Amino acid sequence: MHKYIIMGIQGSGKGTQAKLLAEDLELEHVSVGDIFRWNVQHHTKIGAQVKRTMAAGRLVGDELVESVVRERLAAHDWNFGFIIDGFPRTARQAQFFLESYDIDGVINLHLDDEEVSRRVLARRLCSQCGMDYNLIAHRPEHEGACDVCGGALVTRADDNPEALATRLAAYHAETRPLIDIFQHKEFVVTIDAGQPVDVVQAEIRKSLALPARAAG
Ligand SMILES: [Zn+2]
Repeated sequence: MHKYIIMGIQGSGKGTQAKLLAEDLELEHVSVGDIFRWNVQHHTKIGAQVKRTMAAGRLVGDELVESVVRERLAAHDWNFGFIIDGFPRTARQAQFFLESYDIDGVINLHLDDEEVSRRVLARRLCSQCGMDYNLIAHRPEHEGACDVCGGALVTRADDNPEALATRLAAYHAETRPLIDIFQHKEFVVTIDAGQPVDVVQAEIRKSLALPARAAG
C-alpha cells in the first residue's frame, strides 16, 4: 500500500498528475480542492465559507481544511493507498501527518511563477455548463464559445493578476517550511512541471520506483 503527498502550485497540473497515478495504482485520490468544490456546488455551509474566501483571493483557513481532511480520511477503509493533494499546508499539520501515516513519498511539482501566471491567466470557464478551458493547453474550437454547449467562456473571478500574486506569495510562504520538514525525511522528489503531462508522469514514477503507466 502506497501513501503519497503531492504538492504543487495551481497551474502545475497537480490534480491531473495525482489522478493519473491513482488510476492504475489503485490509490484513492484525496483532493481537498475537489471536496471544497463539491461543497460549493451543493450549497453547504462549508461551501459558502469557501466561496467567500476564494473571492477575496485568500486561501481557505487551516481549521476548515483540517476538519475536512480528518473526515475524509476517517471514511477511508485503508485497503488501498492514497495520494493526497491540498494537505498538509502548515508545518504543524505536516508533522502530525508524518507521525500518523507512514508516507512513502512527497511529490513536489515545481513551476516558475512566470509560467504559473501564464497558465492560470489563460484559464477560461463556460458560463453555462462549467466546462474548463485553457487558451494554451485546451483551446475551444470557436473562440470564446464552449465546445459542448456553445455558452460564453468567462474568466474566474479569482483568476486576475492581483489575486494570483496574493496566492503565489501565500503559497511560497506556506510551502517552503513544509518542503524543509519533508526533506529531513529524505523522500521528496522534485519534478519540473513545465514539461508535457506524460513526461511529468513518467518522471514521477521513475523517481518513486513505480511501474510505468499501463498502455492504453
Ligand atoms: Zn458549456
